[in-house]
Amino acid sequence: MKKHTCIICNRKFPEGQGIIIDYGGKKLEFHSSRCASKFLRILLERVPKDILKGYIDRIVDELRERREIELKTRMKRI
Ligand SMILES: [Zn+2]
Repeated sequence: MKKHTCIICNRKFPEGQGIIIDYGGKKLEFHSSRCASKFLRILLERVPKDILKGYIDRIVDELRERREIELKTRMKRI
């Protein structure tokens, strides 16, 4: 069975567990969502705000729109 290694805490974990993200040919492997969120925090600290902010604003808006659409369709059903 294929084993992965968490890039944050070095813990080994089997295929099918943890979080694996393929990004530009590099595999980002996290044994838990806690380690993945630690990586997210480092990423947000490291990437200059003027580069990242536009993308984050757009994602937040998209997610909010999606929630509103879901809410509306749920209310229609009732
Ligand atoms: Zn880990």
